Amino acid sequence: MFAVVNPATELPIAQLDEAGVEETDAAVERARESFPAWRAVAPSDRARLLRRLATLVDEHREELAQIESRNVGKPIAGARAEVGMVADVFHFYAGAVDKHHGETIPVVGGVDMTFHEPLGVVGLIGPWNFPLNISSWKLGPALACGNTVVLKPAELTPLSALRLAELALEAGIPEGVVNVVAGPGRIVGQRLVEHPDVAKIGFTGSTEVGRGVMQAAAGTIKRVTLELGGKSANVVFADADLERAASSAPYAVFDNAGQDCCARSRILVEKSVYDRFLDLLVEATRRVRVGDPADEQTEMGPLISAEQRDKVASYVADTVSAFRGEVPEGAGYWYPCTLVEATNDDRVAREEVFGPVAAIIPFADEEDAIRIANDTPYGLSGSIWTENGARALRVARALETGVLSINSNTSVRPSTPFGGFKQSGFGRELGMRALDGYSEVKNVFVAT
Ligand code: NDP
Repeated sequence: MFAVVNPATELPIAQLDEAGVEETDAAVERARESFPAWRAVAPSDRARLLRRLATLVDEHREELAQIESRNVGKPIAGARAEVGMVADVFHFYAGAVDKHHGETIPVVGGVDMTFHEPLGVVGLIGPWNFPLNISSWKLGPALACGNTVVLKPAELTPLSALRLAELALEAGIPEGVVNVVAGPGRIVGQRLVEHPDVAKIGFTGSTEVGRGVMQAAAGTIKRVTLELGGKSANVVFADADLERAASSAPYAVFDNAGQDCCARSRILVEKSVYDRFLDLLVEATRRVRVGDPADEQTEMGPLISAEQRDKVASYVADTVSAFRGEVPEGAGYWYPCTLVEATNDDRVAREEVFGPVAAIIPFADEEDAIRIANDTPYGLSGSIWTENGARALRVARALETGVLSINSNTSVRPSTPFGGFKQSGFGRELGMRALDGYSEVKNVFVAT
């Protein structure tokens, strides 16, 4: 057995049976047996089942949000919004089931056509920061394409995935199509990656573990999609609407207590407005409401674990803080909103902190901004703030990153592709492109 803990109270909220290799193998076998019948379900029926799941998620929004809030420490209002997106993701892929079709290609001597075939059993490995949301990003396209699934949630946060699997059954998705195995990554995750009957791994987590997944997948030439870490830049030019940029910037770092691969945790500011912007940013950060995740007004909760809190603290130890917020006293893995003045060579600006810490870095001009923004091994998200439209597009094209916003800090929508450049991973989730990651293209030629 293992205990699942509420990070805001440090108290256990559930005890679970811990899965190991045997249970993982049983789940893969179950998924393998269920595959032929599931792939044969008519697309319109598969769409209906996914739509029913989306509706059930909506109907259980409060329950799922409470699970996610207590298990991850997410503020309840934000957790409800996340569950809303989960329903939207399943609605999107319900609509996509019969729209991901092949093509006919003119060739000499016959007719050539392509089919999109499901892969078979896919292993989905998720992180602890957005357990339900990121599960849906993988489950939606995997099921829409006709694959069966073994989902391994992070051991710290398995509860919402287990409840989602129950809802999938209630929606009418046949037993054996969605399997959840709760157990440690180094055992259950590793087994999934090495299992000869698993055709693909959809992984979200750290770049370090992702590298290991890629290596282990080589043994069976397994397909992999990797959504890894980030160290994204929020680039603020002097001609931006500084008030808007400054009031939005804290939420681009401190949402989910900074445990967000899309966090714009390097705030690059043009030198001529640096002091003014920093004042505005400190003011805006002061307003972030940190506290009990169950409180409707709370905007930032605790970190996921004591280990994560220690890791975050180690990044700030030798830096000069421009601002450090307050945290509640008593139990909970709290860490305050922290603004650090830095250069891009400092450790706090180079590594993914995965906590509520932003590095503020000055730049001289457009060229300098692009150089600094790209000077990182990561390339996941980013923002550009300017009122000059041509500059916005020029810089957007120059940045080496997968997901960009101009005059905004949002990153994800059910219908738009999401994924990284460089060591932030490869493959795309969400939108129609995710379907390519869960299917093979088969080419068929008919001689006429
Ligand atoms: P990990 O990369 O360690 O974990 C991600 C998932 O992989 C979890 O389900 C984990 O299982 C599993 N896993 C662990 N080891 C293996 C393995 N050998 N083979 C297969 N799967 C494995 O991330 P953490 O959750 O530990 O977070 C650490 C850091 O990762 C963070 O500080 C952050 O930098 C980054 N991160 C990035 C995320 C993103 O969205 N890009 C999300 C989460 C983390 P288990 O947890 O049960 O051991």
